[in-house]
Amino acid sequence: MNKIEHIGIAVNDIETAAITYQKLLNSQVYKTEEVASEGVITAFLQCGPNKIELLKASSENSPIAKFIAKKGEGIHHIAFEVDDIYAEMERLKKEGFVLLNDVPKPGADNKLVCFVHPKSTNGVLIELCQEIV
Ligand code: ZN
Repeated sequence: MNKIEHIGIAVNDIETAAITYQKLLNSQVYKTEEVASEGVITAFLQCGPNKIELLKASSENSPIAKFIAKKGEGIHHIAFEVDDIYAEMERLKKEGFVLLNDVPKPGADNKLVCFVHPKSTNGVLIELCQEIV
């Protein structure tokens, strides 16, 4: 894996959270995007080589809605950039990690993504992401 690409933060109100994080990072939201398949609305801020992804539920059934109901707002996942998501998924499967997708799926910010179940990573939801070129 190359680096931490972004940290996903689950929020109730993405407009207010965007204002907070713009102030915090002294950086503007450069993209907002709905990922309908995931039930999320996202907003991205750059911070040096890394990004912050704010995540708001777009429906009651959204995984973000469930996360916030259970744990409240906060860090939802850590995303690692990979060059070859298929190879990385194979490698992790062989190492015994539990993947939440059998095949990579289109995510926000022009990425192919795959999630690793938090039960195999000490309670942290991990995302693999590869830039779609
Ligand atoms: Zn993410």
